[in-house]
Amino acid sequence: MTALPAALAPGSTIGILGGGQLGRMLAEAASTLGFDVAILEPQADCPASRVAAHHIQAAYDDIEGLKRLAALSDVVTTEFENVPASVVAVLEAEGVRVAPNGRALATAQDRVDEKTFLNSVGATTVDFAKVDDLNDLTAAIEKLGLPALLKTRREGYDGKGQVWIKDAADAESALDAIGHKPAILEARAAFTQELSVIAARGVDGTVAVYPLGQNTHENGILRTTIAPAQVDPATQSRAIEIATAILNGLDYVGVIGVELFDLGGSLLVNEIAPRVHNTGHWTQDGCGCDQFEQQIRAIAGWPLGSTKAHARIEMTNLLGDEIDGWHAMASDPDTHLHFYGKREARAGRKMAHINKVLERL
Ligand code: AMP
Repeated sequence: MTALPAALAPGSTIGILGGGQLGRMLAEAASTLGFDVAILEPQADCPASRVAAHHIQAAYDDIEGLKRLAALSDVVTTEFENVPASVVAVLEAEGVRVAPNGRALATAQDRVDEKTFLNSVGATTVDFAKVDDLNDLTAAIEKLGLPALLKTRREGYDGKGQVWIKDAADAESALDAIGHKPAILEARAAFTQELSVIAARGVDGTVAVYPLGQNTHENGILRTTIAPAQVDPATQSRAIEIATAILNGLDYVGVIGVELFDLGGSLLVNEIAPRVHNTGHWTQDGCGCDQFEQQIRAIAGWPLGSTKAHARIEMTNLLGDEIDGWHAMASDPDTHLHFYGKREARAGRKMAHINKVLERL
């Protein structure tokens, strides 16, 4: 048996691939625990760069940049899932630990691999079929029925690269709409609500799971999360089982976000995000240890923190110029503001979120 990596002492350095808002909040949490942070991010003046001790300004797959990140860091993590396997390989060849591991990242990057893995560990998904061309799509429609959702296998986010097919005659135009990329056809999930669970696994295999959140989306982008969601105990227990099976199945270290469809009595997994997750932002003001601190604890080999909620929170994402209302929001004593420090409030861009305390628990 290989020995577990020793816990990193305060003063060590955490490396992060990516310097957006998730990187910034990870850097803030790392700094609270006494760590320095090195980010690798091509964009100058990014949200995390104003919090991190080191900013390596390079492309995510820049070999020299990755080597510098590895040299500075005692462990490296990521704020986004589309990290190529070659990047993990470069970092590991430089002798630095990467958490979560390359297999977890690769699994989450491809919707077919992801669903195949999920079903293999008993985390049920919608029925699906791999689609590479019109023949595949015709057969998939036959198998799954309509309506069904055609998605690109890779690099879809916030509802991008997806098209509903309601009529078999629309198969060809649906392939056109996603640019004939390798795809997956998914049966429609007739869900009553969308839930998500944030969970973490430590280097020693300990698992900690937060209460479920209930999510609403607008135009494919997360708008609100209310958590703890008001679900029956059996649903929360099932979510814990699902998250634990996924984390153990991937030999995962760190925080994961698991998006779920509630079918009113059973849960299906929509997708997993191998990182801190937008639907976990409520934990900053609802739990003793939030998801960002939890991620740092997990990858640093520390004991995991408490996932118990002390407040029910409504998290709302603020997009584009919605942050202009900051002054009024700041006057509500039950509202906690989290701004990302982005210089430009482009329409639809995630600029900040607010956590409103609905109830003390
Ligand atoms: P995704 O990019 O997979 O997270 O999908 C974005 C949103 O599309 C989800 O949050 C759901 O609201 C919806 N959606 C995705 N897959 C399905 C499905 N198979 N059935 C019904 N709705 C879905």
